[in-house]
Amino acid sequence: MTPQIEKKDDPGGWFLPEDTRTALTELFATFQTPVDMEVFTASGVNDSYNDFARTFITDLTRLSPKVRARFLNLDSDEARKRGVDRSPTILLAPNRISVRFTGAPAGEEGRTFMTALILASTGKSGLSDLSRELLAKLTEKRDPRVFVTPACPYCPGQALAAIKCAVERPDLVSAEIVEIDENPDLAERHNVGSVPHTLFGEDHAALGLMPEERFVVELVTLQDASEFLGEMAAQTQGPTPERVDLAIVGAGPAGLSAAIYAARSGLSAVVLEGGPIGGQVSLTPTVENYPGFASVPGKKLMEIMAAHAREYTHIVTDAQVEDAAEENGRFELRTRKGTFSARAVLLATGAAYRALGAPGEDRYRGFGVSFCSSCDGYLYKGRRAVVVGGGNTALTDALHLKHLGVETTIIHRRDAFRAEKHLQDSAAREGIGVRFNSEVVEITGDDKKVTAVRVRDNAAGTTADLPTDAVFIAVGHVPNNDLAKKLELELDGGGFVSVDRAMRTSRPRVYAAGDLTGGSMQIVTAVSEGSLAALSAFEDLGKPYWKEGGGGDSAGD
Ligand code: NAP
Repeated sequence: MTPQIEKKDDPGGWFLPEDTRTALTELFATFQTPVDMEVFTASGVNDSYNDFARTFITDLTRLSPKVRARFLNLDSDEARKRGVDRSPTILLAPNRISVRFTGAPAGEEGRTFMTALILASTGKSGLSDLSRELLAKLTEKRDPRVFVTPACPYCPGQALAAIKCAVERPDLVSAEIVEIDENPDLAERHNVGSVPHTLFGEDHAALGLMPEERFVVELVTLQDASEFLGEMAAQTQGPTPERVDLAIVGAGPAGLSAAIYAARSGLSAVVLEGGPIGGQVSLTPTVENYPGFASVPGKKLMEIMAAHAREYTHIVTDAQVEDAAEENGRFELRTRKGTFSARAVLLATGAAYRALGAPGEDRYRGFGVSFCSSCDGYLYKGRRAVVVGGGNTALTDALHLKHLGVETTIIHRRDAFRAEKHLQDSAAREGIGVRFNSEVVEITGDDKKVTAVRVRDNAAGTTADLPTDAVFIAVGHVPNNDLAKKLELELDGGGFVSVDRAMRTSRPRVYAAGDLTGGSMQIVTAVSEGSLAALSAFEDLGKPYWKEGGGGDSAGD
């Protein structure tokens, strides 16, 4: 995603569109404290990104005198003084805090950057009370570095956690956000094979997005803190439960469309989401079969849907539902953001990637083995990757990788793809290599990363190593059914929740929609199921079909 600088059509020479400029002007007017930035560039390295960084920051400074920037050369005294040796590098309020963007904040990091700008102005970190309490215990310097790519939806959360810590403890914490696309040598040096990848210190690195409090604990202790999660969840329960008619778990297409339909029907509703908004679709490079959008990045489509849902309902993020139980006719859903109490529940928790189960898969996860081509594809530009699978995900991933400049081979166990023909034609047109009738029986590598896959050719009856730098696994999905099990819902043989035509599950006032119910697993069907489920909830809360004679829901407020 090399940024393109197109200003020719704008008479004012602006890069940012007018509506963005208007919103930012209003935002900057609220700044009490001006924010200074230093932008370092050197020509000949990352030129398009340098251009993007200078143009983007120049636009911001033109919008308000409270946003100021100095444009400096990499061989300047200032660069030496600040220890800057990468182009482009942006320092935020460098005399007050230590927040560094190594690389232009393109794509997802554009928003991270704007949030960082706000935090730099207010001087308030926005960390939770518990995080602030934990961070107050820090007594030594820390310099977390978060490696990101422009299309990774998990990256901004991790980057912002680092930035918030730097704002909260400017005396001890320096945060650096490293764009891998612009700094592949740094990624190589630190053996970054997936994003977000966080270096907390010399000997402690972590993969993936983590809840804020866990980030802080790992920053302070330099140790894995995954085991403290349950404890933290208990500590962060809000004192007053939120009370709604319908709690929707999951902010993918099913959950978001349900939110719109529920609210428009007159139900009070809330959407609870533990991961990035948009679910699996956010990780899909391109969607070409959602009516109304000939071709749209999955992330973009979900942003549009989420914005629409927000017009009606509150979406609570970072709110993984840890537990669900029915008490006195209401459902109590416990999250780290508090306990939500609802008359009815819609589970739209989707599905997760299915693992291949080959030796080496776990060993090299994050070090060449990936389940997200949108996130990690950038790391393998100019290198080799194999994609395992024969469905729509495998072919969409392979096409995305090919377009990024990755030498891509698909390995599929049958002699034909199950992916839709349009994708098969595109893959053939792009000259993507295919090995049919073949299975990856092992993923091999050195002490750091993947170097090859061992492939068994079932037609020829031979096994041979195929050198590769990455393995993208796209062999289907398994339902996220933990909550469904907790609520003792009836599941089918594949673990998908059984529903009737109106998306009612085996338990009264519990509904399921989207990938969790199996079936064709399309965005368009998830949207449809979400709306049906919300309408059923509306019908049932007023006139419970499961009670003889109906007559209203006794568990109502
Ligand atoms: P999928 O359609 O279930 O395909 C999974 C593929 O992985 C199949 O080709 C399967 O082989 C193969 N596979 C399964 N287990 C394997 C193993 N252990 N070893 C090797 N290969 C294995 O999954 P998906 O591609 O992730 O798609 C899931 C759903 O999402 C589908 O309904 C799909 O249409 C939808 N989707 C839609 C889009 C889109 O429309 N833009 C994009 C992505 C996904 P077999 O063929 O031999 O079973």
